[in-house]
Amino acid sequence: MKLEGKVAVVTGASRGIGREIALGLAKEGAYVIVNYLGNAAKAEEVVSLIKEQGGDAEAIGCNVSDFEKAAEFFNDIIARHKRVDILVNNAGITRDNLLMKMTEEEYDSVLDTNLKGAFCCMRHVSRQMLKQRGGRIINISSVSGISGNPGQANYCASKAGIIGMTKSVARELASRGITVNAVAPGFISTDMTEVLADSVKEATMNQIPMRRFGKPEDVAAAVVFLASDSAAYITGQVLSVDGGLAM
Ligand code: NAP
Repeated sequence: MKLEGKVAVVTGASRGIGREIALGLAKEGAYVIVNYLGNAAKAEEVVSLIKEQGGDAEAIGCNVSDFEKAAEFFNDIIARHKRVDILVNNAGITRDNLLMKMTEEEYDSVLDTNLKGAFCCMRHVSRQMLKQRGGRIINISSVSGISGNPGQANYCASKAGIIGMTKSVARELASRGITVNAVAPGFISTDMTEVLADSVKEATMNQIPMRRFGKPEDVAAAVVFLASDSAAYITGQVLSVDGGLAM
């Protein structure tokens, strides 16, 4: 197993892509902290599945966009496990609306969760990774952060911001053996995309060269690779997992 003995934190791992990333990392031997916002039962379900697979994990609730709460979250993990080898900033939300109608709350909440959340987690884990002289940070961006999308000015800003922040932090931490990369999924079937109108799904499908929506497992495989020793010389990159959508 590629990740035996590693401690991994996956934010927003109670559902969707984060859940599959947690399962994928655990399958490779990592001990996984399954973070969630409010859905404790779903997070515990992920922990049970990991244990059934022969792995080990725990669920911890924390709003990662709260700077102080995120600090407590990482202090507790580091006090008990003595290390964090892998951080996956996956927690994310959408509050879609056209620019003309978008409220301040819709803008702020998306930027807070998607961009500030990733900042808080990287900020609080970086000291420990520097001490370890090693670590892997993988930030989940989106095809929307590369290409833009009508009705998603807030979401696209957060996901483009993730790419800039990834490259900046990658440059800061590279000399200490810490890699920082982004994964940019295309249209992946989860609760987030389930709510979209059929017309939007059809229009998106027509633009995907591979003519299928992605599965959470497609994204998890890329994250597991970037978290592994095989990806030791890859940093500051954006890996699209989108069936060719953003070529
Ligand atoms: P999802 O099914 O809606 O799941 C979102 C997860 O984030 C849940 O586990 C949720 O926890 C958690 N979360 C939300 N706010 C949080 C906060 N403040 N602190 C901690 N956890 C929080 O979403 P998904 O489709 O799997 O998306 C996962 C990531 O991939 C997001 O960053 C999303 O932007 C990105 N992405 C998704 C797609 C797609 O097509 N689905 C495409 C590109 C990028 P609770 O269950 O407790 O609410």
